[in-house]
Parts: sequence; structure tokens; C-alpha cells
Amino acid sequence: MKKIGFIGLGVMGGSIVKHFLKHGYEVFVYNRTQAKAAPYLAIGAKGCATPTEVANASEIIFTMVGFPQDVEEVYFGSHGIFQGDVAGKYLVDLTTSTPSLAQKIFVKGVERFAHVLDAPVSGGDLGAQKGTLTIMVGGIEEDYAALQKEFAVFGKTINYQGVAGSGQHTKMANQIMIAGTMTGMTELLVYANAAGLDVEKVLATVGGGSAANWSLSNYAPRILQGDYTPGFFVKHFVKDLKIALEEAKKLGLDLPATAQAEALYEKLENEGYGNDGTQSLIKLYWPEGIAPVSKK
Ligand code: NAP
Repeated sequence: MKKIGFIGLGVMGGSIVKHFLKHGYEVFVYNRTQAKAAPYLAIGAKGCATPTEVANASEIIFTMVGFPQDVEEVYFGSHGIFQGDVAGKYLVDLTTSTPSLAQKIFVKGVERFAHVLDAPVSGGDLGAQKGTLTIMVGGIEEDYAALQKEFAVFGKTINYQGVAGSGQHTKMANQIMIAGTMTGMTELLVYANAAGLDVEKVLATVGGGSAANWSLSNYAPRILQGDYTPGFFVKHFVKDLKIALEEAKKLGLDLPATAQAEALYEKLENEGYGNDGTQSLIKLYWPEGIAPVSKK
């Protein structure tokens, strides 16, 4: 079994590390806030002081940090992965980041005889906990094929999308869809409640028809329970929608519905909800986070 390195022990990375440990892998971990590594060290992960140390100790190094600037630091920083011995090793970025940064890491990796893949995921915190994530992979196809066993540890739908950066482009397409399902789910709830309907009954009904989607079945119940914990952070969705719109612009595309979703989520972030889950979009309509009594 190959030695696994894992950098970034947040909502997603932490769950993935647990799967590798359960499958019997030796796992070397690093997180910026070191205290967050403690629960994983307690169940058998080995702690490292820097990303360079992780790179030196491991054969497949996964990164799952927050923003593109974090990815940049983890790979190219003074204690970064590329300061370590990476020849012959696999470097796999699971973060949702930019296609251009994925290409930059790929080029540097090739120079250093490493195998580089961009492999953002979808399926949320629950998909990470269950090990059923969708993984969208860019890079060299043989490198993707070589990691099938490791991807299967935390993923279910795992597909090769094309050259370096294609995984990130696929994830942007995914986020463009999610922009629609999150705004649609939010407005559905606001409308159904204002019309004086039994909202739970509406969900049970439309969720069985052509309005069915992941946001509806996973996030609407959290809203009705008043649960706004992340899940998927608002600040990360704003990041993703900005990347998607920038990439669309480079392609000469205008995506007005995605732009509207971005504006709504940016407003939500500016109102102080950046560290809440994306289901908190409804607070723009229901400031208390609970359905107001319908006037109807
Ligand atoms: P998170 O809980 O904020 O986790 C990110 C982790 O990366 C944090 O523990 C953070 O450390 C660490 N980190 C950041 N910069 C670092 C650095 N320079 N060196 C080492 N560690 C660093 O976020 P998440 O929800 O797991 O999401 C991670 C990525 O996956 C994001 O790009 C997100 O957009 C994407 N994603 C999330 C979901 C989801 O549903 N949550 C689904 C698909 C994709 P600190 O503790 O110091 O902050």
C-alpha cells in the first residue's frame, strides 16, 4: 500500500483521512492550524510540521485546502510541497481552485518528475463522510488510472475529464448547476411558505417530481430544522462562483443566472454569513432563519 500524505484537515479533508486510515493506509497529515490534526493523530495518522515534510514522507500527496491562494502556498511556499522530494510521486489537488493554477502545478510537477492531477470533488460533507464523492480528474490519463484504488477509498463516481485543469473546469460546470439549484430551492421555500402551504408536504411532493435535486433533498431539511452549520461554506461558494464567472468570461460567455447567484451569495457573505453553510441563503428572506408565519 502506498504511503498517503494529506494536507488540509477541514470539513472535507478530515473525513477523507478517516477513510484512508480505515482502509489501513499509513497517512501523513498537516494542517495550517495544527490543533485540528489532533483527532486524526489520535486514530493513527502521523503528524508533519510542514507540507515539505508531508511530501518527503509520502508517495501520494493529496491537498484539500480552502482557496486558490492556500493551494499556491501549500505547493509553492517556502515550506511547500515543491521544497520536498517529489520525483516519481503523485500530487493530487482536491481543492476547488482555478484551472490556471492546476496547470501551473502540473508544469512545475513535470519539471520535477512528479505526476500531477487536479481532482476537485462534489457530494458535500455527507458525501465525504460516506466516502461516496464524485471526483473530476484532470491531468495525464495514465496517472489517473494509476490512482483508481486510492480514489475509490473516498469516491464513487470517478471520471477522467482531460488535460490538466479539466477537473477544475468540470467542477466549475458543477457549481454553475448548484447556483441554480440553491437559488431555486431557496425561492421555492420562500414562495411555498408565503402561499400558506405546508412546506414539508410541498418538499415531499415536488421532491418526487422533476424538481428533484441534491440541494432540495439535502439542504431544505436542514433549513427547516434551523441548521445552518457548514456543510459547504458560503465563503467557498462565493470563491467558486467568482472563478466560474471569470472562466466563463475568458470563454466569451455571459452567464446572467450564475452572476445573479454570485451577487446574492456575495451579499450574504457581506452580511456576515461567510462561515455558515450555503443553505443560509434563505436568511436574505427569513432573517431569523425560520419560516415567518404566512400572512395568507
Ligand atoms: P475547510 O473546512 O475550511 O477546510 C480547509 C482546511 O484547509 C482547513 O482545515 C484549513 O486550515 C486548511 N488550510 C488552509 N490553508 C492551508 C495551508 N496553507 N496549509 C495547510 N492547511 C491549510 O473547507 P472544506 O469544506 O473542507 O473545503 C475544502 C475545499 O473543498 C474548498 O476549496 C471547498 O470549496 C471544496 N469543497 C467543499 C465541499 C463541502 O461541501 N464542504 C464540497 C466540495 C468541495 P485552518 O484550520 O487553519 O483554517
